[in-house]
Order: sequence, then structure tokens, then C-alpha cells
Amino acid sequence: MEILEISKLSYSYGDGNKALQNVSIKIQAGEIISIVGESGSGKSTLLHGILGLLPSDDLDGSIVYEGEPLTNFRKRLIRGKEIAIIYQNAGRYFDPVKRIGKQYGEMLNAHGVRNKKEQIKIAKEMLESVHLTDSERILRSYPFELSGGMVQRVAIAMAMTFRPKLLLADEPTSALDATIQERIVRQLLELRREYHTAILLVTHNMGLASYISDYIGVMKDGKMIEYGTRDQIIDHPTEDYTRRLLYAVPDFQEERLAD
Ligand code: ADP
Ligand code: MG
Repeated sequence: MEILEISKLSYSYGDGNKALQNVSIKIQAGEIISIVGESGSGKSTLLHGILGLLPSDDLDGSIVYEGEPLTNFRKRLIRGKEIAIIYQNAGRYFDPVKRIGKQYGEMLNAHGVRNKKEQIKIAKEMLESVHLTDSERILRSYPFELSGGMVQRVAIAMAMTFRPKLLLADEPTSALDATIQERIVRQLLELRREYHTAILLVTHNMGLASYISDYIGVMKDGKMIEYGTRDQIIDHPTEDYTRRLLYAVPDFQEERLAD
């Protein structure tokens, strides 16, 4: 069964800008699907639509999660636990006046992990899994005391905490330098391998998509203009726009991360 089935999703912002036009996607457990497009193509709007962050009256089409419509009520129940998201520039979503440890603790609390010791153990383990080795210091820090890349990794760790069934990721590694980026990508692949997490990744980076995806969708002006297996899109793109995205990757490598 599909984990997520999005059918003909359409959305216009108040100014009439058609940010999504008839976008359809299916994801099975354990699949990684990347949606690739230039800035402004509608990628973030798509994820916001799935998460219920757009006014539902203006959102056309259907979103089915594990065979049932993803109503706002269900979203609230499962968000963070079964469906997790890594936002673009995740730092903005942290409270600047609370230490990271407190915010991590509150997230765990909200999902039923109430024991302080248990919380600290989980948080440290997860931070170390994204190679934030000085986890004690990180937990004691306020967000502004960490670099953007570190805060991003904290957000990634938090999103992976409950081994979600579905992980939505919006340019999760764009702000990170290459070595960290690669580690995070390996971490995502491990999550998929060990827990069969389905991952819907949106990115402008065709190199990243080529590296980790089973399927790739290409978005332009709110439309999915091309969709296929990773090999179809990388080796036999049909659209010029897709070719341009491929050419934009510096020394594009055919090599794929073995997983
Ligand atoms: P991407 O994530 O691919 O860069 P977005 O989904 O952010 O694209 O944006 C898609 C389109 O919708 C763009 O034309 C953008 O300018 C517009 N848009 C995004 N957010 C808003 C908003 N809050 N109000 C009006 N227009 C928006
Ligand atoms: Mg975006």
C-alpha cells in the first residue's frame, strides 16, 4: 500500500499565483522520491500543502495517507511521530530564547517521552547520529550559539527521532558544506534501510536527487513536467528544463551511493 498518495493537488496564493497545478505523487514505504526544480517552482508549497499549512479551502485535490484522507485532525495526531519534516532553514523554527535541550525535551514530551533521563539519552544519541559529537554542549546551547549548519543538523536529528514512516525534507542540506551534506545524506539512506522510512525530498540540486532517489519528479511553474525512475530522469530526460537542471550540477557524477 502507498504511504502517501497525492492526487491533482492545486493551490493558488491570494494574488492568483498558481503555485501548484495538478501535482500527483505516490510514495510506498521505503521509497525515496525527490522533487527537483528551480527556486519558485512550487516545491515548498507542495510540502506545506501536505502538512496542512495552507488554507484547506483553497487547496484542490486529495492527499491520502495509508489509505485514508489526511484530514487536519489526523495530521495533528501523527505530525512529528509518523510524519516528520525538516524545514528549509530549520533554524527559524527554533525558539531563540530556549536552550536546544529544552526544545528537544518539549518535543519528546509532546510525543509521550516524559522521563528526563530518557529524554537526554535519546537526544544525545540522535545528535551523535548526525555527527554532533559534543552533544552535551549542544543541548546546553541557545540556537544563536550554534552555527547555521549545526542548528540544521539538530533539526534533522529531531525529525528522525521517532523513525517516522514518512519524512518530508525541504532542501535539508542546502545550507551545509559538502562533507556534512554527505554524512546527512548517508544518515537519510540509513533511516530508509533500517526503518523503511519513505522520504519525500524537495531540492534544486539534481546531483543530490540523483544520488539518493528511486524516483525523481521535475517541477516548473507549479507543474510536474516530468516524472520517472531515477535512471529515466538522469539518463534519458525528455524536457530541456530537466537537462538544464542536470547541467547545473558541477562535475555531475553518474556514480550513485551504494545502499
Ligand atoms: P520553491 O520552494 O520551489 O522555491 P515556493 O513553493 O516557495 O517555490 O513558491 C512557489 C511560487 O509561489 C513562487 O512564485 C513564489 O513566489 C510563490 N509564493 C510562495 N509563497 C508565497 C506566499 N506566502 N504568498 C504569495 N506567493 C507565494
Ligand atoms: Mg522552497
